[in-house]
Amino acid sequence: MKAYKYKLKPSAKIVAVFESWLAVLCELYNAALQERRDAYQINHLSISRFDQDRQLPDIKKDRPDLARIHSQVVQNVLKRVALISRLIEGEIKTCTIKREADGWYVIFAVEEPNKDVAVAPIASVGVDVGIESFATLSDDEAAPIENPQYFRRAECDLKKAQRRVSRRARGSKRRKKAVRLLARKHLKVKRQRRDFHFKEARKLVSQYQSIAVENLNIQGMVKNHHLAKSISDAGWGQFIMIVIYKAEEAGRTVVKVNPSSTSQDCSRCGYRNLIRLGTRIYRCRQCDLVIHRDRNAAKRIEQRGRAVPSGSRREVASCIRSDGPPRLSLRRALARDSGRETSA
Ligand SMILES: [Zn+2]
Repeated sequence: MKAYKYKLKPSAKIVAVFESWLAVLCELYNAALQERRDAYQINHLSISRFDQDRQLPDIKKDRPDLARIHSQVVQNVLKRVALISRLIEGEIKTCTIKREADGWYVIFAVEEPNKDVAVAPIASVGVDVGIESFATLSDDEAAPIENPQYFRRAECDLKKAQRRVSRRARGSKRRKKAVRLLARKHLKVKRQRRDFHFKEARKLVSQYQSIAVENLNIQGMVKNHHLAKSISDAGWGQFIMIVIYKAEEAGRTVVKVNPSSTSQDCSRCGYRNLIRLGTRIYRCRQCDLVIHRDRNAAKRIEQRGRAVPSGSRREVASCIRSDGPPRLSLRRALARDSGRETSA
């Protein structure tokens, strides 16, 4: 499946219809969530989507506003899309209308025909995500991917916009305007980050057949507020999702490996060095290897990726292989970037 997204220029009348639908659908969503919560808390029952789907005809009898939500406006949208910038290849499966800070968008999920894909020039790579660099590859020929830090750069600007919102009186028109401006600024950062992730994911997929990444528990890491800002800014989770998506499209494999000790084990001899993690240069006491800490970790990740048998595929996506659940990721991230010595 591939998504095509187009900006809409709906008339005021259509916008009013979209707004009313959005309100009704939000209400439905919240009610459905509440039903699930109540069923679980009160009766310890799980309610499935199908259980809720079955109730829809009755709900529509009571709520004509919900019943009116039909394909009509979608058809309108489809007509308008005939001015579209990119042609859709394949069969349209779903159509979603979405409101973002700068307007309305329509997104089509399309089932694409299978394409023949060529094998990548290099068999495998390990990718180590970090804070100093966005990512480092095991390939000695590849320079580390620098972190663009859009959010940090835009932070000052966002703070100003935020202060403007708080200064203005609640419920005033001027406050609403300031809120819209703030939302647009956030949206810009989000899009820049996403573009960066797509660009880097495309590069990876064009060069390497099998891509090994750590199975990181990013949500766990974001809970630590010292690191949260950098981690959210870097958006590794999104990056890895995009790599998986691009890999699948290009016939590549993504392997998620156990992240424990990848920064401590020597990539040449396997000896576990208790290194000072504030230091950037990894020195092996066993074989005298001297290498950048992140490059060493990327090489360990690549080696682990190769060791994962190709039969142990997970069900999550057809191209993902894994050698176990995420482990020790929070500790590792803390140890690597706080500059403190590890006690492991
Ligand atoms: Zn060594």
